[in-house]
Amino acid sequence: MDFQLGEEDRLLQQTARELAQREFARDAYTYAQTGEYPRRSMKVLAGHGMMGMTVREPQGGGRSIFEACVVMEAVAQVCPHSGDVVQMGNMGPIRVIDELGTEEQRARFLPGLCGGEKIISIAMTEPGAGSAATDLKTTAKYDGGSAVLNGQKCFSSNAPHADLFVVFVRFGPRTRDCGAVVVETGAPGFTKGKTERFMSGEAHCALHFEGARVPRENVLIDSDGFRVLMPIFNVERLGNATRCLALAQAAYDMTVEHTKARRQFGRPLCEFQGVQWMVADMRVKLEAARLLLYRALANARAGLPTAIETTAAKLYCNEMARQVADDAIQLHGGYGYSTEMPLEFLYRKIRGWSIAGGTVQVLRNRMADLIYERSFSQRPPRPE
Ligand SMILES: Cc1cc2nc3c(=O)[nH]c(=O)nc-3n(C[C@H](O)[C@H](O)[C@H](O)COP(=O)(O)OP(=O)(O)OC[C@H]3O[C@@H](n4cnc5c(N)ncnc54)[C@H](O)[C@@H]3O)c2cc1C
Repeated sequence: MDFQLGEEDRLLQQTARELAQREFARDAYTYAQTGEYPRRSMKVLAGHGMMGMTVREPQGGGRSIFEACVVMEAVAQVCPHSGDVVQMGNMGPIRVIDELGTEEQRARFLPGLCGGEKIISIAMTEPGAGSAATDLKTTAKYDGGSAVLNGQKCFSSNAPHADLFVVFVRFGPRTRDCGAVVVETGAPGFTKGKTERFMSGEAHCALHFEGARVPRENVLIDSDGFRVLMPIFNVERLGNATRCLALAQAAYDMTVEHTKARRQFGRPLCEFQGVQWMVADMRVKLEAARLLLYRALANARAGLPTAIETTAAKLYCNEMARQVADDAIQLHGGYGYSTEMPLEFLYRKIRGWSIAGGTVQVLRNRMADLIYERSFSQRPPRPE
């Protein structure tokens, strides 16, 4: 067992880190104030082959999700928003199109995404179907050469900016009738609600499908969707965990520097045992999280990540990052709580990842299913 990155991965990490320092460091925290989407980062990353890395050739780079996460971690540590772009270009709904799309669909949708020109978002959550994702009500029906959608989605990340959406729908009443359809902005019958913001500043909006009509060729899958899509969704979860790790590492690095430089009672903070123990715990949590995450990623090099390794990694990285960012704020005192420092932004950004992509409670439920090798229904018992 080797706990070091291989030579190629190390070089990739170094390249990504240098690129991020050179291109993204200056504006790293301005997007948090302007609410803009970092379109420039899309172009820069695409220019260096860091969008569509995990997409099969010829559209993408044909690389592993391990490599994409090495890049994402390095980039997100310098610029959280550009880290989100690496996620969008490698780990989210782009993987659904790459895994399930026909040659024609891949050729139609992937080049704009891999080239850093188009933004994609996933539309799964609905007002009445969050954790209970299989309760979704948005329907799709074939009508000649079209698929017609009716329903509403919410909380899709970056929806106001997005050019296309992978929309989870049902083609019939049963869970096994669920599937996914690509809907492009501008499709007839598809409208976006007013722009709203998460705590992190990231934009989202309601998506309304009122007889929305897309070509039949936009249907990625029309049955057995959840069984097929959830393993692909595990890739997205590892991207979520990677950004938690990266932002927590950034908060920790700032804390080590601050506690060396800041003096109280005539000594640097790092000479107080109370401070040392907090920083020691932060470091141990980071190391433990990195091991869990890298194991899941390394074992997924040849295919999709396993459910248990993904669930454990996301759950631990989510909670670790919240604790580390919280302690980082504490150890910066008033400076940590000031909006002039990036720490409060890092904390707000990290906070959302314990909700997005499966809440930490739902992940614990999933762990129990996997441990006991049975599905514990969350639904009320049926009357005898
Ligand atoms: C930053 C961010 C980005 C997001 N991006 C997207 C996106 O791009 N696309 C998209 O489709 N959605 C997105 N979401 C939505 C997200 O997937 C949902 O918010 C999430 O699945 C939870 O659903 P909900 O908000 O309806 O909460 P609910 O399901 O109502 O849950 C509320 C609380 O109850 C708990 N709970 C629910 N059921 C159980 C149970 N059985 N056992 C124990 N606890 C339970 C939950 O853990 C949670 O704490 C995003 C959310 C956030 C915060």
